[in-house]
Amino acid sequence: MSLDEIDGMDNLDNLSNIDDLSNEKDLVLRNTGNVTHISSNDLVEHVEIRPDLIAISCFEIIELSLARKLKVVPVKFENDIVTIAMANPSDLSAMDDLRYKLGNYDVIFVASEENMINAAISRWSRTVAQSAESEVIKEFKTEATESNKVEEMDEDSGKMSKLILKMLEQAVSLNASDVHIEPNENEVMVRFRVDGVLQPHTKYPLGVANGIVNFFKVQGDMEVADRRRPQDGRFGKIISGREVDFRIVTIPTAHGPEGIVIRLFDQSRARLNIDEVGFHKHIVDPFIKVLESPHGMILVTGPTGSGKTTTLYASLGLIATPDRKVLTIEDPVEIRFQGITQVQVNEEAQLTFSTALKSFLRADPDIMLVGEIRDSETANLAAQAALTGHLVLSTLHTNEAAGAATRLVNLGLEPFIITSALKGVLAQRLMRKLCRSCAEPFEASEEEIRSVKWPEDIEMPDMLWRANKNGCPTCDHSGYKGRLVVGELILISDAVAQSIIEMNSSIDIEKIAITEGMKTLHYDAIKWVAEGATSLEEVKRAGV
Ligand SMILES: [Zn+2]
Repeated sequence: MSLDEIDGMDNLDNLSNIDDLSNEKDLVLRNTGNVTHISSNDLVEHVEIRPDLIAISCFEIIELSLARKLKVVPVKFENDIVTIAMANPSDLSAMDDLRYKLGNYDVIFVASEENMINAAISRWSRTVAQSAESEVIKEFKTEATESNKVEEMDEDSGKMSKLILKMLEQAVSLNASDVHIEPNENEVMVRFRVDGVLQPHTKYPLGVANGIVNFFKVQGDMEVADRRRPQDGRFGKIISGREVDFRIVTIPTAHGPEGIVIRLFDQSRARLNIDEVGFHKHIVDPFIKVLESPHGMILVTGPTGSGKTTTLYASLGLIATPDRKVLTIEDPVEIRFQGITQVQVNEEAQLTFSTALKSFLRADPDIMLVGEIRDSETANLAAQAALTGHLVLSTLHTNEAAGAATRLVNLGLEPFIITSALKGVLAQRLMRKLCRSCAEPFEASEEEIRSVKWPEDIEMPDMLWRANKNGCPTCDHSGYKGRLVVGELILISDAVAQSIIEMNSSIDIEKIAITEGMKTLHYDAIKWVAEGATSLEEVKRAGV
């Protein structure tokens, strides 16, 4: 690699070096000039590290799990001297552990930003998983040429589960929401959806396709022999210390092996509190008040993949206290809660949102969560439950909060029933967050500001931020990392209720809510832009 190819390092002459580490210009480490005093004798230098330039051999010095636990990464290994970057330079016991573990070597500790350490650790885990994966693929290829019978390989075979577990481990470590396994004529493509964007992950030889499909069918308790009908199933596994639920759907293809989509549900999301979901205060504070209503209907709206379920579960976390009986009917049950009765929709067994709601009403719970209201029977039952002293949480497939009322009217509810039952509607979307390691500040032109309809009451900062076109290793070169939630909350005030009763359009209902202080999705999105969390391009892409 020539120096010109190392992005961001074109100004090498300005880089100072750490004398202790190397007399040459150091590409992996760059001194920031700060030090931390950890005792009267010891100083820890602060450095910036380049995760993409750390030699792979460093990753063999200690175990990945230990590195994760201690938030450290070996960044250099030369002449029996190991340099270890740590997020917390005053963690003396971590230093002792590492010195003991690396007894044969001299150890130098440097301090670095936690996000750089994390980026290095995720590169490390990718490297480990990829090499293990390619080992397994190599074995498969050898057997395929030897016997030409890989497609008949037993789905329980250790190798197959090793291959698939490695793949799932990687999906979990990248926080993928789903994994797509797509066989074509020549090979099996595997793609991961990360931060809402589908990206290629790896390819397997076609010979393993049926083995993979059968593995998932066995795990998910599905019919292995049935290849014509789409099937679904689920299983749970502890992966890298995280409890993950996998929901599988098989997709029959005209020719050859079936495709598979696996959705990942990280059970740790269940522990999220509503104020940790990431809404701005102007949304979450009044929403918590609404949730504290003793009865009534509360709806969360937005398209598929807008984070509605996370919000509902986090809401349950707040209100499902041990003294209240909670029943849920969900499709699917994404996160399992202790102390809550959760029912999974099962159309074949005639267990639908509406049949479950009917039997729930007989059990007289305090709180009911209905996965989605999509037919008039469910809408009626949910409203009836809300009007007879129960708190009902549900979702609707509408874009804006004000659209919920008109949607319920279209589902056959009388407007006065809606206004009596409904307490509030939260509409939400997810947008990508700018990568903090590589985002660029810029001065927006007046034209740009005009074109996005910047709200008057959001102060225009001196600089806005935009994604770096080339990205960096932290964000896998996408310029974005992680997601943020955008919301709008409509409360059913007297004026809003009047507008619903007059059967006004959702635009008119929204206008009234705005005069009463409601902040729109667009307002909230621009607020995130003003705070530097996301870009104007992303607001346009998300269409808010
Ligand atoms: Zn980046």
